[in-house]
Amino acid sequence: MSRRGIHDVAIVGAGMVGSALALALTKAGFDVALLESRPPAPWRAEDEVDLRVVALAASSIALFERLDAWKPIRTARACTYRHMQVWDALAPGELHFDAADEGAAALGYIVENRLIQHVLWRALQADAGIALHCPAKVAATEVDADRRTLALDDGSRIAARLIVAADGADSALRNLLGIATQDRDYAQRAIVAHVRTERGHVETAWQRFLPASTIAFLPLADGRGGAGRCSIVWSVPNAEAERLLALDDATFCNELGAAFDFRLGRITATTTRAAFPLRMKLAERYIAPRFALIGDAAHVVHPLAGQGVNLGLRDVDELCAALSEARDAKRDFAADFVLRRYERRRRSDNAIAAHSFDAIQRVFGSDALPLAALRGAGLRIVDRLAPLKQMFARRAAGQ
Ligand SMILES: Cc1cc2nc3c(=O)[nH]c(=O)nc-3n(C[C@H](O)[C@H](O)[C@H](O)COP(=O)(O)OP(=O)(O)OC[C@H]3O[C@@H](n4cnc5c(N)ncnc54)[C@H](O)[C@@H]3O)c2cc1C
Repeated sequence: MSRRGIHDVAIVGAGMVGSALALALTKAGFDVALLESRPPAPWRAEDEVDLRVVALAASSIALFERLDAWKPIRTARACTYRHMQVWDALAPGELHFDAADEGAAALGYIVENRLIQHVLWRALQADAGIALHCPAKVAATEVDADRRTLALDDGSRIAARLIVAADGADSALRNLLGIATQDRDYAQRAIVAHVRTERGHVETAWQRFLPASTIAFLPLADGRGGAGRCSIVWSVPNAEAERLLALDDATFCNELGAAFDFRLGRITATTTRAAFPLRMKLAERYIAPRFALIGDAAHVVHPLAGQGVNLGLRDVDELCAALSEARDAKRDFAADFVLRRYERRRRSDNAIAAHSFDAIQRVFGSDALPLAALRGAGLRIVDRLAPLKQMFARRAAGQ
């Protein structure tokens, strides 16, 4: 911290994105404070695999490698997926992705959110250079010429040359700054559970589109007998979610197996189920004087492509690069033109991704005949056109 008690950067929110940003900026030589309202739940190898998992793309793994966080995550519990298989209930088309076609060992990894947070949190605690404030809750913020100040609800104050809000989809800081969002409520919920299947998952991420829902089966490295279970994400209209959540396990497994076309045989067991409301939320601005939004605070996308945190971690790379470049050129790293560069680069990429997932959701969420005909034809054509397919594969891998 400077002699006047001002940090370079204060980050609010130590989710996967805020924690990664704190570590990346500290590694780049910035003096960082990180504020979090509650510590993350602990992760232990002997515990059941947590219900929340993410598909990490190559770009996210590269960032974690630079932060020395990938090895502990990979060795604790992560499942490679080398193939992706997408098909449709209403048409015969099918789409295959293979890591080998991309010249890569894997398309990505399935990892528990809690494990990622646990590894990042330990790294934050071990870094004496990071001022970690937890529990801490922001009540107000004000800006001066050379700093922005956060007033916490315990009466204390923290000042930094730049404040970054990484406080998630319902960002309190975004609201305090009066930044509007473009919202779409999908009136759907994603049901998640871990299930055991008759046949092994063969390191494949599977996705099936149905008339009004999508199902993803993601491979887990749980090692508890058999060939490994799958984490399922079943996105369905709200009323259908209520019905599926109320089913007994055996009936749920039967309905899930049928909806999944019995691709891995019968579903033989399930954990408890949880459900998450689905929405798109895009901030109209990412920046304000001495302020930037990042991660879900800036953009929430439909999870059908498994890209939310991958986009947030790309924000981390871009913001860190913009700030470092300005600082190295002896400029004010929190000046408007620096933040605008970050906003320009990330807002369009995130908006394109969000609207692409939204369009896929609309086309595949429809059983109106012309759209239904397009669906199967689209998948067949894409599978045959190698360059187009590579573009899809790169987007799926978060590159
Ligand atoms: C069903 C489902 C499946 C998904 N699957 C994938 C996937 O496969 N791949 C993928 O990339 N993404 C996926 N996502 C999206 C991904 O989970 C999110 O994009 C990601 O968790 C966002 O991380 P974040 O750090 O930006 O925000 P969050 O995880 O929301 O973290 C925000 C942090 O800020 C803290 N906080 C909040 N308010 C305050 C405050 N006022 N003061 C201090 N701290 C505060 C919170 O406690 C929290 O720790 C999925 C989402 C869903 C719903």
